[in-house]
Amino acid sequence: MKFRCPKCSAACGLFDRACQRCGFLLTARSVLRLYLVQARQATALECPRCRKGAVPIGAKVCPACGEIPTFRDLVEATVGPPRRRVRNYCDNAPPHAKRLAQWIYLLLSATLLWWLLGYVQQVTGGHWLGLAALSMLYLTASARRGGCPGAGSSPSHTTRRAW
Ligand SMILES: [Zn+2]
Ligand SMILES: [Zn+2]
Repeated sequence: MKFRCPKCSAACGLFDRACQRCGFLLTARSVLRLYLVQARQATALECPRCRKGAVPIGAKVCPACGEIPTFRDLVEATVGPPRRRVRNYCDNAPPHAKRLAQWIYLLLSATLLWWLLGYVQQVTGGHWLGLAALSMLYLTASARRGGCPGAGSSPSHTTRRAW
């Protein structure tokens, strides 16, 4: 029976002590260690300072430049470029694309509102007007305190500027 070396994928016998090609020790311990190293490399983030080293999660320093990036730096280096690309697209989107996004947003909002109204009427049995006034009062109060969860979040950059 044959299986592949986990390091170089050469064919190895089941009872071989080491891989014939790369010399990798075929013990449970070394195989486990190799998989651990591979998992750490797979989850490594780009170093925000030198942009060369891949810093594994949990590592103290970048293996390439020896810099000590914070977790926040690492996340920013990874999430930053795609976020900038989306923002660039939104800023440079042609007018008809912006208009389309606005229409889709409006349609979705109207659908959601319609569904919500139906649901509220079903639950409150028609006495929803007083409750609606009360919740408006609550929403206004919490928005003034700056604690309204919906105040700062909108589906996209484009729609926020459009409304
Ligand atoms: Zn091998
Ligand atoms: Zn680095």
